[in-house]
Amino acid sequence: RNEIANFRDCKSIAIMGGTFDPIHHGHLVTAEAVRYRFKVDKVVFMPAGQPAHKTNKKVTHNEHRYLMTVLATMRNENFEVSRIEIDRAGVTYTIDTIEELKRMCRPDVRLYFITGADAIHQIMTWKESERLLGMCDFVAVTRPGYDKSKLFQDIGEIREKFSSRVHYMEVPALAISSSDIRERAKRGAPIKYLLPQEVEDYIHKFGLYQDDAEDEVKFM
Ligand code: ATP
Ligand code: MG
Repeated sequence: RNEIANFRDCKSIAIMGGTFDPIHHGHLVTAEAVRYRFKVDKVVFMPAGQPAHKTNKKVTHNEHRYLMTVLATMRNENFEVSRIEIDRAGVTYTIDTIEELKRMCRPDVRLYFITGADAIHQIMTWKESERLLGMCDFVAVTRPGYDKSKLFQDIGEIREKFSSRVHYMEVPALAISSSDIRERAKRGAPIKYLLPQEVEDYIHKFGLYQDDAEDEVKFM
């Protein structure tokens, strides 16, 4: 496979999944906070693949999102980016991703899966959630505006149902979102300081987020 996997020898890895359309400082601050708190050797960013079926949410081309993630993580020696999901055709399930990642690692690797508070209550509905929870710890991170009592209720429920391998972590409140950045870029408002300069340069270079029919053409 076309994967450098510069994390094969790590004893512990945190996986930061996301669409990263585009990646921003909220993602990076979160990843660094988790790395420090759980003392993981590396955080592996995992840009999500293209939805196989036509959904109403349009996502920028895989390769753009992958490259922006590489640019954004370049200055952190503990950050890596994986192609596992973007190179896989069809719908991606977290369990398949974790299994594939695990095959590249030491057999005794400890895995943490970072997920936003907004996704935690869905975990139980994921494919093979019980087996998934057995394979890795989950780290639920808050983001501004999320109702914490709801989060604690969800975590309690998961802990009760499965083993208690769901952690909660508060990260510095960065009210940054990719959708807001896309919307700003579209109307020509500044996006500077919301994301790394290299990512801003990339967005301008390829004219991303300018119109709705955008980048489909660029990789033909
Ligand atoms: P969109 O606005 O398109 O939904 P997003 O900013 O939420 O994008 P995603 O790629 O969907 O970015 O997020 C990946 C993960 O990062 C999710 O688990 C999400 O909860 C988390 N995350 C996103 N923004 C922040 C932030 N500002 N602070 C902390 N966590 C965040
Ligand atoms: Mg989101």
